[in-house]
Amino acid sequence: KAKSLGGNQFIFYRPEMNENAQDMLSLENDLRRALTNNEIEVFYQPQVNAQTLVSTGAEALVRWRHPTRGIISPVVFIPLAESTGMIIEIGQYVLETAVKDAEQWHALGYNQMHIGINLSSRQFTQSNLMELVQNVTSRSKLPPKFIDLEITESLAMSNAETNINILKGLKAIGVSLSIDDFGTGYSSLAYLHSFPIDTIKIDRSFVLNLDTKEGRAIAQTILAMADSLKLEVVAEGIELEAQVDFFKGNHCDIFQGYKFGKPMPKNEFLEWLKEYNKSVKLN
Ligand code: C2E
Ligand code: MG
Ligand code: MG
Ligand code: MG
Repeated sequence: KAKSLGGNQFIFYRPEMNENAQDMLSLENDLRRALTNNEIEVFYQPQVNAQTLVSTGAEALVRWRHPTRGIISPVVFIPLAESTGMIIEIGQYVLETAVKDAEQWHALGYNQMHIGINLSSRQFTQSNLMELVQNVTSRSKLPPKFIDLEITESLAMSNAETNINILKGLKAIGVSLSIDDFGTGYSSLAYLHSFPIDTIKIDRSFVLNLDTKEGRAIAQTILAMADSLKLEVVAEGIELEAQVDFFKGNHCDIFQGYKFGKPMPKNEFLEWLKEYNKSVKLN
């Protein structure tokens, strides 16, 4: 069927478009029940010190274990959760779960571990974000500085003046703040300087472009700027030894990538942590 947009404009629905829309609709219905059915799970990806390679923390990355479709990527369902508002509940679940798990790592003696938690646009601008973070931190034994809240550079810059105030509020609670996907969001340096942030996470696309002279120059420029602004730098998507060498030699502080570990379920991550730290100490 064709839908009139008024005048003589029409959208013609191709069968595959329809299927896709149907698909998203059924996914949306399933997502409504995902939390209560315990299908939402938090995975953890290791982060390590770039110089010593000891583990320094993990990023919480959400997964949906769908009963018939298997594991669904956040790239697929986060936008759906964001547009339907379900992100608020899912985000709260991720925050509470990740803080609880990090508290357990600390209790086990891994007491310098940070936990990175992604905030979507809707979560970041919800009116009770401060209250939520305050509640979670006050109920936990985990000192708030070990909680690294991540917002993307494009979100941070979308409404910079307002966002700086939200970030200041979060900072007052004592949590750490990271700018995610850095380099993809057109920040002005003047602005970046006025953001009360601790860390930038260099987008994986820069890590993938080190084989050209220009790619290396861009990465070096970002790293030098972060260094002069006294920001901690995380390189995301490290897979190769050559990438390790490059970033290690250019003021990078922390590595995250498949080279060290993929995102893993909680128990697998704890096993990883025990084994990995044994092998690092041997070197
Ligand atoms: P992100 O926050 O930038 O997370 C990094 C993504 O890069 C993760 O994808 C991670 O698995 C992937 N990655 C890390 N190292 C490597 C590597 O060496 N090679 C490759 N190819 N990929 C690597 P993932 O888990 O699929 O998450 C994708 C995005 O979904 C995240 O990007 C984040 O924007 C969003 N997301 C994930 N969990 C949450 C959440 O709990 N809340 C919100 N709001 N967004 C989330
Ligand atoms: Mg992130
Ligand atoms: Mg990123
Ligand atoms: Mg530095």
